Amino acid sequence: MTAPAVAVTGLTKRYGARTVVDDLDVEVPAGVVAGFVGPNGAGKTTTMSMLLGLVRPTAGTGTVLGASIEEPASYLHDVGALIESPAFYPSLSGAENLRVFATVGGHDPAPIAGLLGRVGLGDRGGDRYRSYSLGMKQRLGIAAALLGDPALLILDEPANGLDPQGVREMRSLVGDLASSGRTVLVSSHDLSELEQVCDWLVLIDTGRSLYQGPTRALLDGVTRGVAVLPERREDRAVLRDLLVAGGHEVVADDARLVVSVDGADVLELAASVNRAAFAAGVVLAELSPLRTTLEDRYLALVQGGVR
Ligand code: ATP
Repeated sequence: MTAPAVAVTGLTKRYGARTVVDDLDVEVPAGVVAGFVGPNGAGKTTTMSMLLGLVRPTAGTGTVLGASIEEPASYLHDVGALIESPAFYPSLSGAENLRVFATVGGHDPAPIAGLLGRVGLGDRGGDRYRSYSLGMKQRLGIAAALLGDPALLILDEPANGLDPQGVREMRSLVGDLASSGRTVLVSSHDLSELEQVCDWLVLIDTGRSLYQGPTRALLDGVTRGVAVLPERREDRAVLRDLLVAGGHEVVADDARLVVSVDGADVLELAASVNRAAFAAGVVLAELSPLRTTLEDRYLALVQGGVR
């Protein structure tokens, strides 16, 4: 099995009496697009900065690309990062800026034209940086992070400040970046920005881990209830009374009834609702589990509602 791209335990950062990253364990498997999600001030930038050797951890051990986080120099040559805006020269073109970065970083400049195309700046690489929109600046930053074809790419809020169209473009770019085994760790305070492109999620708040694992698994077993729609509208009240008499919690939702799962197995509940309807001669036009969205789940985790 391939070693994880990031595996740290007990990662902690204190500034004076203030703990901003608190005993955090993070594991990111190699080859995934991992979303690092948490509200403003949750500690995402600080954590990423510690992985990049920019901020010294107060405590914690672990590895990045198999090398100890205590020696960032031993793995940084294989890590690309966009964390805070890179210092590009305003009067140089995008392509010229990348050449400067390649020279300083000791990277081969040959892939620059291809990289500009990859981030959607193929026809604007010759324009001065100062003429770029915010979205273009962010994309140039990603191109710079890709110089040297890193095994791990760390992007801190690449969609920050972008308009909805820019956010969509950034999302599709991030989704395209994981290729040939590369791992991408990308942060955002907005889960909806990342949920479609991330196969792995690390959710944090106030420096602590709320969840980490496959995106799909976050939703497993989380079901709000079973939605039931009788074929005939007049059967709705009959069915509701029947279910309530059977001890179920039922709420009306438009034409449908929603039966709360309340810890029960959702399929067993659906079967029991179906049996009760059948016994009463009520034909069901719909009987379906109501799943919680990822956003619901995230907010519940952040608000401490569901663990
Ligand atoms: P955002 O989404 O707003 O960028 P974040 O999750 O990236 O937030 P951080 O930037 O890591 O959060 O900040 C976490 C906390 O650490 C914040 O309360 C911030 O004020 C504090 N912090 C960060 N850097 C320092 C520092 N150098 N000195 C003191 N406090 C700091």
